[in-house]
Amino acid sequence: MRIGLMGGTFDPIHIGHLVAASVVHDELKLDQVIFIPAGLPWQKSGTPISRGEDRLQMVDLAISADARFTSSDIEIKRPGPTYAIDTVKELMADQAGHEYFWIVGADALESMPTWQNFKELADLITIVAVNRNGAGQIKVDFDYVFVQIPEIQISATQIRNRVKANKPVAYLVADPVGKFITNSELYK
Ligand code: ATP
Ligand code: MG
Repeated sequence: MRIGLMGGTFDPIHIGHLVAASVVHDELKLDQVIFIPAGLPWQKSGTPISRGEDRLQMVDLAISADARFTSSDIEIKRPGPTYAIDTVKELMADQAGHEYFWIVGADALESMPTWQNFKELADLITIVAVNRNGAGQIKVDFDYVFVQIPEIQISATQIRNRVKANKPVAYLVADPVGKFITNSELYK
């Protein structure tokens, strides 16, 4: 199987993530995309992050109707900081024989060489980047596959700010995610 992995904080998951996963799934003929909320994202340790179980639940609410998508609690279960390399190795040990594709937005691509054991990671998986915030196929000194997506200029930070300011997030997040945010009083 060809398996896409989409890591992120997902605080919360929004339609930008979903469009990216959907289009990459189609373009690269993937069998499945697994959304993997990060445990303690080491690159975001400055800002407060919602509980892993809430972020995973929002992911599950957003993808439940889509058979192409699944989620994994592999990172939020793991104590300590989150490293993609650990996740990939764990997945590969669990189910051997699959081909893995790690999907990132163009904003994340440039910083990938700072990820833990990046070279080893890049040997294990195919890196896939999608355009984001006007950044398209950027030049880096490692191999990756670029997939052009219809760009949705939204970020989770914007969603959190909108909720805090009592602005609507309808259609920016999946319906049940919006309800979950309201009911759990997240981002207030
Ligand atoms: P935050 O504002 O909190 O950083 P975010 O919207 O960037 O949230 P993340 O969870 O940080 O979401 O992103 C996870 C992955 O999804 C990253 O690789 C990121 O580049 C990508 N991504 C996020 N939003 C979009 C979008 N609108 N279009 C394409 N890719 C996106
Ligand atoms: Mg981000």
